[in-house]
Amino acid sequence: MAATSDHGKVNLLGLSQAALEAEITALGLPKFRAGQLWRWVWRHGLTNFAEMSDLGKPVREQLTELFSADRPAVSRRLQSVDGTIKWLLRFADGNEAEAVYIPDKERGTLCISSQVGCTLTCSFCHTGTQKLVRNLTVDEICGQVLLAMDELGDWPAGKPNRRLTNIVLMGMGEPLFNYENVAEAMRIIMSGEGVALSKRRITLSTSGVVPEIKRCGEELGVNLAISLHAVRDKLRDELVPINRKYPLAALIDACRNYPGLSNARRITWEYVMLDGVNDSDEDCRALLSLIKGIPSKLNLIPFNPWPGSPYICSSDERIEAFAKRVLKAGYASPVRTPRGRDILAACGQLKSASERDRRQKTGVASQPAS
Ligand code: SAH
Ligand code: SF4
Repeated sequence: MAATSDHGKVNLLGLSQAALEAEITALGLPKFRAGQLWRWVWRHGLTNFAEMSDLGKPVREQLTELFSADRPAVSRRLQSVDGTIKWLLRFADGNEAEAVYIPDKERGTLCISSQVGCTLTCSFCHTGTQKLVRNLTVDEICGQVLLAMDELGDWPAGKPNRRLTNIVLMGMGEPLFNYENVAEAMRIIMSGEGVALSKRRITLSTSGVVPEIKRCGEELGVNLAISLHAVRDKLRDELVPINRKYPLAALIDACRNYPGLSNARRITWEYVMLDGVNDSDEDCRALLSLIKGIPSKLNLIPFNPWPGSPYICSSDERIEAFAKRVLKAGYASPVRTPRGRDILAACGQLKSASERDRRQKTGVASQPAS
């Protein structure tokens, strides 16, 4: 069913090309109008139907009455000294989630959310402490991409020197617990007549929802990142509790069989560096032997502390020693430089700041902000 916003209009950002065609022909309009509308919305980023110059005035008026192409509202925008931008987004029902843009020399990566909060409770992750959880809809997921493109001046889509070149599903939520909406949104974003981002430029990160992994490769063909973080079941049960349901052997098996895996399309293993917990030489050896034979990239993530977090980040020396071993085993540049730390935009810090604000306003005691 098409999503309707608070003003009762259907948000076009939630419709596939086929669904848009169905809406348009149901109005008695010819099918090619759907194609025109699609290109205005997805290639040119228009939100105002009155500007769609190849549509007659009565059609434009009809569309304005029935549809919108609204992005989520921005309730807060923060920009880091390193150029990282974080948007706290407010959806029509008042719920909030975050998107982060991370500029780099050769690419610009947008990190998007798939849920408000997360049902999982990984012990080192701030998002996992958030109670309120719901899936984001297709238009809310796509809306994050379009909002970033609006701000970055990236229209028309596909123009040279565009600033948004990659998308990672590494924001709030577990994307494979919202597979249908995430898949539909990514299909729309990949569509050739729209934003047309290649599947090679999209990476989906999962904590290890094993039954959905195969389908993600078969149906979407996007890059897969796994939040590994521990290489022994006992420790992973604690750090990434979904491991109790889908233990390491099953996860590794699903990754080994990920459709389309090759040296050009590797699995990214995310490994958060926690002092004295998972950062020993022995852990590193076990890690390398666990992923042996699987085309892999390693991503060592310095732990980002948050108020009340039970861990501390491994020392620079430890991370370096760990990385050196990884390098020696043939994996390139494995340490993820923390970005946007000054605006709490680095991974794991994506907790709705407004929740804290609200608590402060209502006088409920909250932990001190870091
Ligand atoms: N739920 C998905 C995607 C979002 S998390 C998943 O878990 O894969 C994105 C990445 O940030 C994951 O690898 C997650 O484990 C990592 N992360 C979470 N909290 C962190 C923290 N405090 N410091 C560093 N990385 C963290
Ligand atoms: Fe959820 Fe991912 Fe955080 Fe775990 S690391 S609580 S799966 S967002």
